[in-house]
Amino acid sequence: MISIFVIAPIIAVIDSCQKMKSLSYKINSASCIGCKKCVSVCPEGFISMENGKAQINDCIGCGRCYGVCPTNTIYSIEE
Ligand code: SF4
Ligand code: SF4
Repeated sequence: MISIFVIAPIIAVIDSCQKMKSLSYKINSASCIGCKKCVSVCPEGFISMENGKAQINDCIGCGRCYGVCPTNTIYSIEE
């Protein structure tokens, strides 16, 4: 029989992973200065430029773009 002391930490890790996946990042176009720093760090190539503004097309919630944006234009939401 598997002990609760083994199962509980596993459940906690799975739960935290699910919480990470539920974060998604968005861009407030009004304050984007078009520096493209976010484009260069996205590991999945999900950010494109349109009319000089960055646009997030999909997201795995890694937060890299958020970390490099000089104008705090990128924000997270829970999905
Ligand atoms: S949070 Fe990560 S995956 Fe999502 S758009 Fe930014 S860099 Fe790309
Ligand atoms: S890093 Fe920020 S300011 Fe630069 S293009 Fe991306 S969203 Fe716009």
